[in-house]
Amino acid sequence: MPELPEVETVRRGLTPVMEGQVIARAQVNRPDLRWPFPPDMAARLTGRRVAALRRRSKYILADLDSGETLLIHLGMSGRMLISGDPLGVFVHDHPALEKHDHVVLDMENGARITFNDPRRFGAMDLLPTATADQHKLLSVLGPEPLGNDFNEPHLIAAFAGRNTPVKSALLDQHIVAGLGNIYVCEALYRAGIHPGRKAGRISARRVAALVPIIRQVLVDAIAAGGSSLRDFRQADGELGYFQHAFDVYGRAGQPCRRPDCGGTIARIVQSGRSSFYCPACQR
Ligand SMILES: [Zn+2]
Repeated sequence: MPELPEVETVRRGLTPVMEGQVIARAQVNRPDLRWPFPPDMAARLTGRRVAALRRRSKYILADLDSGETLLIHLGMSGRMLISGDPLGVFVHDHPALEKHDHVVLDMENGARITFNDPRRFGAMDLLPTATADQHKLLSVLGPEPLGNDFNEPHLIAAFAGRNTPVKSALLDQHIVAGLGNIYVCEALYRAGIHPGRKAGRISARRVAALVPIIRQVLVDAIAAGGSSLRDFRQADGELGYFQHAFDVYGRAGQPCRRPDCGGTIARIVQSGRSSFYCPACQR
């Protein structure tokens, strides 16, 4: 499931072929994904210039010159593929459409962007740009973890008095937007905080230290995604999935990477999801 760094990698991959460019033709091959597509979506996209390509949490937002914004959510299995890129970055010819190619955007510059989603948990919607923040998916979101509103006083206040595990608190999209299971595990490891510790029982000093750690975990992953983008240019034009060396995620039974720790990474299940941590150095 793509998390914030993967979505940011997709956004950065799409930017050179979409931003400032006109959608010459939009092809919508089914009525819905997770939810129905908005009425006349293909017609409302055709001929529109993409003024800006933004990201909010795990949503990609394409602001169109019509005053509408195309919201794209990759869901569980959504993938973006670029072919026929005139910039010579994604040099592949347009492949034949595949079964799960649900939306195809042909840009005036010759690039084709294909949204493929076998499980169809993804979504697309069109909303007025001026009130985009009030969309039902966006209005509930807390601050962006890489933005200025996510800071030490905010996180200390959000954790104060909370009886939930810190893992759950960091997955709460009201507290911070876009953090998912993988990067919460990684951030708690770097911070030396046990994922089961109650959020309200962590000292303000340690909560404050989490803020730059969360930022750095995401920045590191986005940097890894950037290098994967360069690889994908020689591969198949698919954006957003990359091999990333995690410290704890998926490493149950393997030795802790912290020098002199000697611990073994463990896996527990919290709220139905796996948490990976080092019992020796996360307290
Ligand atoms: Zn350790």
